[in-house]
Amino acid sequence: MQNKKIWLSLAKMGGHEQKYIQEAFDTNWVVPLGPNVNAFEETLAEYIGEKRKVVALSSGTAAIHLALIQLGVQPGDEVICQSFTFVASANPIKYLGANPVFVGSEPDTWNMSPDLLRMAIEDRIAKTDKKPKAIIPVHLYGMPAKMDEIMQIAREFEIPVVEDAAEALGSELKGQKCGTFGDYACLSFNGNKIITTSGGGALVCKTREQSDRIKFFATQARDEAPHYQHSEIGYNYRMSNICAGIGRGQMTVLQDYVNRRREIHSIYKSLLKGVRGITVMDKPSEDFNSNFWLTCILVDKEKAGFDREMLRKKMDSMNIETRPLWKPMHLQPVFAESPYYGNGVEDSLFDNGLCLPSGAGLSNEEIEKVIGVILKAGKE
Ligand SMILES: *Cc1c(COP(=O)(O)O)cnc(C)c1O
Repeated sequence: MQNKKIWLSLAKMGGHEQKYIQEAFDTNWVVPLGPNVNAFEETLAEYIGEKRKVVALSSGTAAIHLALIQLGVQPGDEVICQSFTFVASANPIKYLGANPVFVGSEPDTWNMSPDLLRMAIEDRIAKTDKKPKAIIPVHLYGMPAKMDEIMQIAREFEIPVVEDAAEALGSELKGQKCGTFGDYACLSFNGNKIITTSGGGALVCKTREQSDRIKFFATQARDEAPHYQHSEIGYNYRMSNICAGIGRGQMTVLQDYVNRRREIHSIYKSLLKGVRGITVMDKPSEDFNSNFWLTCILVDKEKAGFDREMLRKKMDSMNIETRPLWKPMHLQPVFAESPYYGNGVEDSLFDNGLCLPSGAGLSNEEIEKVIGVILKAGKE
């Protein structure tokens, strides 16, 4: 007997999306750019605050790519990137012919360790006689990285920071929204993120000059002229007016979805409390107000009597989608040659960690079913 599949992180429409799409059809704005894009950017900027400017793009990956271009990353340069992340944080470094330098995580937030960051910067300067061009910390699974320390080190060495907030829309560190700490920040609206535009992203900038320049690069770097004239290489990276319509609708439910993901995390936490060998990832203190995009657990095989992979397969057989934590970049074959500064924290997280279904549309019954599989796994 197959039950309805329980997905890891399913998109959920809020109800107003089609209205904005219909508006685009009615006014024949079925093109890249348009009123939905402008309105989506404005509501996003208002939501994250700190007077930031937001540019809607075709993906979060495009956002990181454009930020690195704007920061002048050139072939042969080095860019520091958190090792424990999704490959989209690091790929744009390679698009530019630059080289990633991977930095390991600390155990509190699972994100970039400030100590290892400092060590990496000092060692790269000693070895290459050049400063890394940028630092990319990530708020993985929505948990804010230790941005105070990271920004302090970045300022000390005068290296710009591109914050990867793709998973962290709505998360806050000491009351300040993720995406407003770095010089630039990327957001993602892919199908499984906090909100979706079916596919899309945004770059958060500090000034109007920066956001104008990003828009220029995102629309084929067209010079001001009645004809098509180009003095620089550009990209076709802007968001369409249709996708932005979905985004506008999603903005009306964003805070509800963040609240629900936090609630889902707290249900998992309370029902798994005291279960042998299972630890639910939690915030190190109230300062780190994660959106809990995904609730993650660690499985201690000795104590639990089963390992992460056994549990994942068991879930799969029950038609429940779970996923191992991100495989660190320094362990990826494609980055085998890249320098790495770490002490194995994320290696062990990858070995023992599992992401549980966490979508805003998940019912309490579905959560209880997932928990039931964990409770039973030890007794078989
Ligand atoms: C999803 C994601 C991205 C990239 O976003 P896309 O919109 O899919 O290109 C970047 N970094 C992290 C950590 C992500 O999870």
